[in-house]
Amino acid sequence: MQHIIDRFISYVIIDTESDSSSETTPSTKKQWDLANKLVEELKSIGMKDVTIDKKAYIMATLPSNVDHDVPTIGFISHFDTTPDFTGANVKPQVISNYDGNDIVLNAEQNIILSPKYFKDLLQYKGQTLITTDGTTLLGADDKAGITEIVTAMEFLIKNPEIKHGKIRVGFTPDEEIGRGAHHFDVEKFGCDWAYTMDGSQVGELEYENFNAAGAKITFKGKSVHPGYAKGKMINSMLIANDFINELPKGETPQETKGYEGFFHVHHLTGSIEETVLELIIRDHSKKKFTKRKELIAKIAQKFNKKFAKQFGEDIVIAEVKDQYYNMKEKVLPVKHIVDIAEKAMKELGIKPIIKPIRGGTDGCQLSYKGLPCPNIFAGGHNFHGKYEYVPVESIQKAIDVIVKIAELTAKPIAK
Ligand SMILES: [Zn+2]
Repeated sequence: MQHIIDRFISYVIIDTESDSSSETTPSTKKQWDLANKLVEELKSIGMKDVTIDKKAYIMATLPSNVDHDVPTIGFISHFDTTPDFTGANVKPQVISNYDGNDIVLNAEQNIILSPKYFKDLLQYKGQTLITTDGTTLLGADDKAGITEIVTAMEFLIKNPEIKHGKIRVGFTPDEEIGRGAHHFDVEKFGCDWAYTMDGSQVGELEYENFNAAGAKITFKGKSVHPGYAKGKMINSMLIANDFINELPKGETPQETKGYEGFFHVHHLTGSIEETVLELIIRDHSKKKFTKRKELIAKIAQKFNKKFAKQFGEDIVIAEVKDQYYNMKEKVLPVKHIVDIAEKAMKELGIKPIIKPIRGGTDGCQLSYKGLPCPNIFAGGHNFHGKYEYVPVESIQKAIDVIVKIAELTAKPIAK
């Protein structure tokens, strides 16, 4: 256990915050600090073909130790942390034998991690938790995933009696800014399928995510002195407001769950002459997703028709761009890759929690690049903030799942 704690802490104390305003890959230079360390570590535990490319994508191989043909599988994690909360000077705290009470993260600033608010904590009574000191995020997202993959590979190397096929490991930068899969060389990785170790609580297994699009809607107006404005002024802000009111009621992120899709207005800025509205569109169903995009075009059309004479040209310009798609479409034809993960968990006494992701993962982009890639729990909670924590026992369970999947895949029956 101490081995896992030490490894995890050695990763989280290295600041790897990504930056969406940067054009480079990795988006921040400091991500190299951990990337270079990981390369050395992969070599030192005995991994083969350890490579790092110019964009800091790391790959490594654990060769097969069986004679028969076995699918090549991969395990993937990201080493950056979100720019939403600072990841500099992480000072992890290890709480052994958690008693189920409030955890004082920071006495000076009165920052408390309380099971009264974060009820999940109570599942971990008696376990060892790693928390922040209340001033940074922890980075279990996704350094827990990296810890799990490295430790599982090390375990397989040290225990050659466990039979497995060829296993590939991939660590990426910039997942948190949506670019982790952008420069991932699927061909070079050379796997039949892979898993991202990037979920939350023990048992999570995900192969459905949103179809996603972003819309930028520009409203044109006409500014006229308010005293002489009757029949002349067009206030673009009010038209944007009317536009928002045309969106279906009750279909916002705060009013939906499970498979329910939404429109999410996330940015609005304007004056009389011009208003820009940005929203995102999400739906698991491809059909409903298409309908949602069509609705945006329809509403825009309606407004343009209404103001055609008065304005002379289109008053509403709606640009809708697809962002990512539901990986289910790519995973269902190879459903056995989910079944193997499910079986692995069950054999380990872990109850699989299979639910749709209300977001996207690197795995969904990779699935569309030809590498089917469901997502498995990494064990942490409360990602992207100071209340982030991870039970060490959960990291151990994820390690066990990786080893078990490797084992099951090597059994001829698993094909
Ligand atoms: Zn993550």
